[in-house]
Amino acid sequence: MPETIELTSPSGTVKIRPDQKLSLFTTFRIGGPAQFMARVTDESQAEAALEWAEQMDLPVTSIGGGSNLLVDDAGIQGLVLAVRTTGKDAETRVRVEEDDHQVRIWVPAQMPISRLGHLSAERGWTGLVWCAGLPGVVGGAIVNNAGAHGGEMIDQLETIDVIRLADRKIESWPAEKLNAAYRYTVLKHAPRPRDVVVLGATFVLPRGDADELVKQAKEFSAWRKQAQPTGACAGSVFTNPDGSYAGYLIDKAGLKGTTVGGVKISELHGNFMVNSGEATAEDVRQMIALIQDEVYRQFEVRLVPEIEQVGGK
Ligand SMILES: Cc1cc2nc3c(=O)[nH]c(=O)nc-3n(C[C@H](O)[C@H](O)[C@H](O)COP(=O)(O)OP(=O)(O)OC[C@H]3O[C@@H](n4cnc5c(N)ncnc54)[C@H](O)[C@@H]3O)c2cc1C
Repeated sequence: MPETIELTSPSGTVKIRPDQKLSLFTTFRIGGPAQFMARVTDESQAEAALEWAEQMDLPVTSIGGGSNLLVDDAGIQGLVLAVRTTGKDAETRVRVEEDDHQVRIWVPAQMPISRLGHLSAERGWTGLVWCAGLPGVVGGAIVNNAGAHGGEMIDQLETIDVIRLADRKIESWPAEKLNAAYRYTVLKHAPRPRDVVVLGATFVLPRGDADELVKQAKEFSAWRKQAQPTGACAGSVFTNPDGSYAGYLIDKAGLKGTTVGGVKISELHGNFMVNSGEATAEDVRQMIALIQDEVYRQFEVRLVPEIEQVGGK
């Protein structure tokens, strides 16, 4: 097996590790190996890793917390760039400009989204409290336009910083360029390999009452614990169709508890699939097809996956 390659960057060494199990980097705990993997936390590390990938003529796949991904059993060819780190590391890089009415904050892409929700509540900033308890990191949440409790990433987003793969130039994009809609951005729907990696984001947040916001953040976190399963999963498997809820339709179709191989539809929430420990990406794909067919047969609604399939030969 090839050995770990070490690249130097102004902010530290970037390790390119071969043959890394992606099941360890996804909340579904599913996925074959990354041919190569690098974890990066800032633009200089991203630049070093991307330059190496270009020299090696390898495609690049960026991931964040891996909480919305179904990685193929064959893994991902090329370089997987994981833009993720612990909450504490990321928090030290948050930049804040405030006045009496609002704050403008710059947040690195690897900041855990839940921590951002709690931090903004503690500081008395409104608009991001819904993030409390949400898995994943800011970069992935922006790409997905993640949302909950009536809020979504695009609401408070002013700009994003990206590094272009082609020439490793850093650009600032106005939020409008994402063309965001319900769980949609142009970045999420761009064909792979994609042109840019998200490095950070600026949000504008009105001031609010910290005590009230902290209470709300705790309630949102607690709600997740009682309404969603705790096992290995990737959140909602399908987006909600117009005027209904995917989980409701799956429940009404009598599918809760159904198993395919190592994957089971949660008894708690019909739109969640839980990995028993042995599930493969193929089990999940079969389960998706089974649910789509049965829900369509009973209700003439075609459910569309929210989780994203990546990798394969
Ligand atoms: C238990 C559970 C509950 C969930 N509840 C919700 C919910 O209420 N609402 C909701 O919207 N989602 C929910 N999700 C899904 C998921 O948490 C969110 O979509 C999350 O924001 C994805 O972030 P991530 O960092 O894990 O992204 P990943 O899954 O790692 O990646 C998502 C997408 O972003 C791309 N990407 C990631 N980082 C970068 C980067 N730096 N640059 C460029 N592209 C990048 C990836 O290629 C992929 O296309 C849930 C998931 C779980 C497991």
